[in-house]
Amino acid sequence: MSTTQQPPHAQAAERTAQRARVFPPKAMPALEYTREVAEATTPIYEKVRHVIPEIEWPAHAPYIKAINDLKAERNAIILAHNYMTPEIYHGVADIVGDSLQLAKEAVKSEADVIVQCGVHFMAETSKILNPDKTILMPDMEAGCSLAQSITAEDVRGLREEHPGVPIVTYVNTSAEVKAECDICCTSSNAVQVVESLGAPRVLLVPDQYLAADVALRTDVEILTWEGACVVHQRFTGAEMREYREAVPGVKIIAHPECPTDVTAEADYIGSTAGMITWLKDNHPEKALLVTECSMADNIASEAPGVEFVRPCNLCPYMKMITLPKILDSLVNMRDEVTVDPVIAACARTAVERMINLKS
Ligand code: SF4
Repeated sequence: MSTTQQPPHAQAAERTAQRARVFPPKAMPALEYTREVAEATTPIYEKVRHVIPEIEWPAHAPYIKAINDLKAERNAIILAHNYMTPEIYHGVADIVGDSLQLAKEAVKSEADVIVQCGVHFMAETSKILNPDKTILMPDMEAGCSLAQSITAEDVRGLREEHPGVPIVTYVNTSAEVKAECDICCTSSNAVQVVESLGAPRVLLVPDQYLAADVALRTDVEILTWEGACVVHQRFTGAEMREYREAVPGVKIIAHPECPTDVTAEADYIGSTAGMITWLKDNHPEKALLVTECSMADNIASEAPGVEFVRPCNLCPYMKMITLPKILDSLVNMRDEVTVDPVIAACARTAVERMINLKS
């Protein structure tokens, strides 16, 4: 019987056995804070000392050293989203950025293995664009409220309801949803993607707030879906006005997944990558990043002189990824993210259509 004729559980078992032959499990390294570990990780600690107390470093450092050693042995790289904790972002990541930056950079890599430190749809996007690489997720439960808000069946329903209207999907969706849509977009290129279609009406799913922000910037009529990000949805316009009053001169930098009364108060609205560029170009004295908490912690060293004002909200899914789980992924080569080849081919068309747009 060929692999494609096997039932799914048998295929998964076969893949696990194949992986074990190519990447035999390793022994779990000793995790002690030795002189060697301290010396190897001191330069890393210098980048995070503003957010990690010195007394806590011996708990992180042995994992960081062990993960970096294992990456070399496995010919692996770690992709870390901007919302990862600082010990991951600065300690073990090879590529950092927003979800699209990560997937695009991974294509250029010669690595055999990618450990995706982010959420599940990002690992799927990496697999879609890197079908020959092994993609590992340190915690398969790390999902996303936006990705969970819409299914492929929902998209098929929208097509029936709105015949002839092109459908743009935000990258924060499953591979199945991407496969049903015409093109992907990110929070930084959504307007460009919508206008590239040359249609008077476009469906932009699943984030209702990103869609509302795009609708303000284009003459194209935007229809949407009722999805939202649990992290950005919790900010309010009243909260922003209170901060403006309490912290004179503060610049409010909001992600377009925030509700419209929040973005209405912002000095800049953009993706996490756009936020970094804006801070570097404008050097505000005080900035309020209206997004996930780790963002300000991670980019503080790239924006010296900027005082970051809270509040922020934690993403419960992003915070499922930890150093011990990353180490376990590399030691035992689990858990691998796979995408059905037919779905991956359709989803790749939607992602590559976006990547190939001229900026
Ligand atoms: S921050 Fe929001 S959009 Fe990003 S992974 Fe978490 S729930 Fe999803």
